[in-house]
Amino acid sequence: MVVVDKTKLEALFSDIVQWRRYLHTYPELSFQEVHTPVFIAEKLESLGLEVKRNVGGRGVVATLRGEKPGPTIALRADFDALPIEEENEVSYQSQNPGVMHACGHDGHAAALLGVATVLAEKKQDINGAVVFLFQHAEEKPPGGAQEMIKDGCLDGVDAVFGAHVATDIPLGQVNVTSGPIMAAVDAFTIHVQGKGGHGARPHNTKDAVMAGTQLVTELQQIVSRRVDPMDTAVVTVGVFQAGTAFNVIADSAHIEGTVRTFNETTREQIEEEIRAIVKGVEHSTHVSCDVDYLNGYPPLVNPEYETKVLGEVAAGTLGEDAVISAPAALGGEDFAFYLQERPGQFFHVGARTEDENTQFPHHHPRFNFDEEALLNIGKLFMGLVERYLSK
Ligand SMILES: [Zn+2]
Ligand SMILES: [Zn+2]
Repeated sequence: MVVVDKTKLEALFSDIVQWRRYLHTYPELSFQEVHTPVFIAEKLESLGLEVKRNVGGRGVVATLRGEKPGPTIALRADFDALPIEEENEVSYQSQNPGVMHACGHDGHAAALLGVATVLAEKKQDINGAVVFLFQHAEEKPPGGAQEMIKDGCLDGVDAVFGAHVATDIPLGQVNVTSGPIMAAVDAFTIHVQGKGGHGARPHNTKDAVMAGTQLVTELQQIVSRRVDPMDTAVVTVGVFQAGTAFNVIADSAHIEGTVRTFNETTREQIEEEIRAIVKGVEHSTHVSCDVDYLNGYPPLVNPEYETKVLGEVAAGTLGEDAVISAPAALGGEDFAFYLQERPGQFFHVGARTEDENTQFPHHHPRFNFDEEALLNIGKLFMGLVERYLSK
């Protein structure tokens, strides 16, 4: 029976803050993480855990085997930064120009190191095993999660949990919500190839502007006429480039857009509809088109049972008032890939206070958060371990 003494984690708070600030000072971009995983792996090795480096490229996986048999649960922290120039004037300001931990992944890694440190001393009380997943490249599709899964990071794992600090949630609260909570984020590009010519002789051309604008308009019919109105989806065209002069019929046009969905079937449906509309416009306007559809991350869907478990753990750990339920958002998260493979839960943990420095949105050059949130993430993870690895 694990009885996790959460005061042990509180006693580690200054270390957790120090680790977070160290990682914050030396941020590394997605798929370019070199020093961050080494820092993490060395800390985990010093705790006597089984550590695998370079999992799926740059990830680090540590396993803590309890002395008695039982299930295995995985806890995940990401550790990559963003291409943003930091504007915070803090002692731990980024020393890597143009790179910043502006999403809180530095904190996720530090909080999980704190949990590993406390649990490493509880081996004799653990019925089962805890797998610590430190993941590279969350911010950039195709993302690190898929690579780590392919490399076996979920082998033997029964359930997987991940947390994210959130500056849109007050400190002390945690978003406990089941179902689709984050959207699938896809991107598409359409190259329209017509045949340019004189503006006064349209019958000798294939007008790429006309074909392109027809495409933009018809793409808006997908959500309004094809998708079930009870479902949520967005099709946005953000780029339309064509033409060079008032009296020249454009030879080609370039279109880019994004698709956001919560439902995997709708997501596939929309891609098919885009391709069908393109075929129709090719047929009626005589241009030819190339469609490039990039699947980003799938929708993140929290299964119901684990939401219930998390809700109980959160109420028990942080108090009944801590548990909130927030509407789904259209951001993406590659934790969705873990939840396609295993049951589990992804949750947002409040990190905002009255201090205006904790109120900037994620991915902002002044993003920062109240570090107490890291203790709350740690306590929730420990509560989940307690719940799953006790008899
Ligand atoms: Zn982010
Ligand atoms: Zn993030």
